[in-house]
Amino acid sequence: MTRVVDPASGTVVGEVVATTAEEVDAAVGRAAAAFPRWRDVAPGERARLLRRFAALVDAHLEELALLEVRNSGHTIGNARWEAGNVRDVLDYYAGAPERLTGRQIPVPGGLDITFHEPLGVVGVIVPWNFPMPIAAWGFAPALAAGNTVVLKPAELTPLTALRLAELGREAGLPEDVFTVLPGRGDVVGERFVTHPAVRKVCFTGSTEVGTRIMAGCAAQVKRVTLELGGKSANVVFADADLERAAATAPYAVFDNAGQDCCARSRILVQRPAYDRFLELLEPAVRALRVEDPARETAEMGPLISAAQRDRVAGYVDGARVAFTGSRPDGPGFWHAPTVLLADSPADRHWREEIFGPVVSVLPFDDEADAVRLANDTEYGLSGSVWTRDVGRALRMARAVEAGNLSVNSHSSVRYWTPFGGMKRSGLGRELGPDALHAFTDVKNVFISTEE
Ligand code: NAD
Repeated sequence: MTRVVDPASGTVVGEVVATTAEEVDAAVGRAAAAFPRWRDVAPGERARLLRRFAALVDAHLEELALLEVRNSGHTIGNARWEAGNVRDVLDYYAGAPERLTGRQIPVPGGLDITFHEPLGVVGVIVPWNFPMPIAAWGFAPALAAGNTVVLKPAELTPLTALRLAELGREAGLPEDVFTVLPGRGDVVGERFVTHPAVRKVCFTGSTEVGTRIMAGCAAQVKRVTLELGGKSANVVFADADLERAAATAPYAVFDNAGQDCCARSRILVQRPAYDRFLELLEPAVRALRVEDPARETAEMGPLISAAQRDRVAGYVDGARVAFTGSRPDGPGFWHAPTVLLADSPADRHWREEIFGPVVSVLPFDDEADAVRLANDTEYGLSGSVWTRDVGRALRMARAVEAGNLSVNSHSSVRYWTPFGGMKRSGLGRELGPDALHAFTDVKNVFISTEE
């Protein structure tokens, strides 16, 4: 049994059974048996089932959002967006089964055609920071492509995934097509990697665990998608709309209490604008509403656990604090939004992913300096560039080594567009028009026309 805790109060809100390795094997066996039946469901019917699943998520949006507030401490506004994202991702990929076309390639002596064949059982491993969306980014395209799915939520946040599996069944997904198996990473997740019937692992989580998963998958040449850590840069040039850049910077890093792999946790400010930017940033950070995440006005909630709060606090100890926002007193795992001044790019808080509401600020001189500093990291997930110079915006967007760049905004995740990391932030892309191909293998068929 794993205890589920409300991070805003520290109270236990439920208990969830931890799946054993034997139970995982049995569930994978059932998912493998269900695969040929699911693959052979007519594309239009598979699409209809996914649309019905999306409609049921929509009908239960408030229930799912409240469950996430209680289990993960997400603000109610964010949690509603997250449940809505599951609905949208299901709807988007519901359009895919009927459009999963191959090619006809001109060859001599016959006809050559390609098929996108589903892989079989796909294992999805989800972290605790965005339990609903990250689950859906795996299971929705995987199911649409004709795979069956076993999914492991994070130990700390299993409740919404379990509810989504129930809604999938209610929508009419056949038994064993989508199974949620709560439990430990080194038991359930590990078995997804080692079980030969699991043909692909779709992992989101830490770079450390992701590296091990990739090595494990290599032993079976198992397909793998990795969405890992980040230390993304928010680069603010002196010619930018400084008011907007400063007003939005807190949301780009403190959203979800900074527990976001895309958090712009390194702010680079061009030297002439450095003092002014900090002057504008301070009131924006102080005004951030850090409060009970169930309140409609909440902009930031608690961290997921006491351990995470203590880890985050460790980065602030001894660092140069520019200013902080507020945090409620009393129980729960709270940490105030905190702005640190980096003395050099060697500072630990500048280099390591903190995964909490802490941002570091460093000045830079010119464009070349900005590119060098932004790329001086093992990660490459996302980033932002603020400037009014279009040419510079494009040069920067091309030069920063990250999978998701935004100009004069902080957008990373849109379900219509590909999402994923460069360097040690990951491998492969999720979402967007091509995600389905990550859940299929191309098969080439040649038909001779020789007499
Ligand atoms: P984690 O790597 O510890 O755990 C992620 C998931 O992997 C959990 O479900 C866990 O149970 C499972 N797991 C742990 N050990 C395993 C093993 N040996 N084999 C298989 N599965 C195992 O990460 P976390 O602490 O849950 O999440 C925080 C991290 O995730 C951060 O570093 C963050 O950057 C990263 N993250 C990345 C993205 C992205 O899209 N790139 C998104 C969210 C989180």
